[in-house]
Amino acid sequence: MRQMMPLSNSRVTVVRWLESLAGAVASVLFPSGCRICEALLTRADRLPICDGCLESFRELPEEICVRCGQPWAEDGDVDGDESVCRECQERGFAFDAARSFGVYDGALARAIVLMKYERIEPLGAWFAKRLFEAVRGIPPQFAADLVVPVPLHRTRQKERGFNQVDLFGKLVAGKLGLPYRPVLLKRERARPDKHLLHFEERWEAVRGAFVIRDGGRVDNLRILLLDDVMTSGATLDACSRALREAGAKSVAGLTIARAVRQRIPVRERF
Ligand SMILES: [Zn+2]
Ligand SMILES: [Zn+2]
Repeated sequence: MRQMMPLSNSRVTVVRWLESLAGAVASVLFPSGCRICEALLTRADRLPICDGCLESFRELPEEICVRCGQPWAEDGDVDGDESVCRECQERGFAFDAARSFGVYDGALARAIVLMKYERIEPLGAWFAKRLFEAVRGIPPQFAADLVVPVPLHRTRQKERGFNQVDLFGKLVAGKLGLPYRPVLLKRERARPDKHLLHFEERWEAVRGAFVIRDGGRVDNLRILLLDDVMTSGATLDACSRALREAGAKSVAGLTIARAVRQRIPVRERF
């Protein structure tokens, strides 16, 4: 096997100088601003978001419910079994574990909206890297055999032209060396257009909305289910239910971001 030779300090300096020069040239030839804060972009890549905005994404703390990944509330949301939150104990999600890269608010929420409505592929690739790292947080017994995206209803997919989950999902599966199955699950019932105000209405809207396509086989397989955002967990739950009923051995949900119940302190960066 060929080994990468470590670069000498002077070479690293030259490479960095060339990179910054390339970035500077690109910013002169193609001046553009960060799509979130409008600061001038000086990097040579095609990511339309500045470093400051990327660094402002709030990652989740390490202290989370082992099942659904919800950060612990400061007032102590612990009841009986200290590792599983009250919602998991009372509701009983159909997935075995859920994890996310960050908190769904601020610049991260805006970045996801950008990727989703403007089909920004470099952003999908950036998120794929973060999700690949976040997979490590999933308990080992739910390691996957297959990667499955949460599907859109066919009418929605036709309107948008693509499923936003495919923008990062294919790359996550590739990095994990696993098959990606975008047509295994089908959304039969579209999401109602009216804005859903109540938490329970969200559950009602997706109950039984997903089915396994004819010929789709998940028998005894461990599934990694991908979506862009987890809010109430109802969508991941409904997909997991369909997969479990079809014989899946386990389902672990993974999303770019998740809504958290209350503000959590910003994690210190060292
Ligand atoms: Zn910015
Ligand atoms: Zn939980």
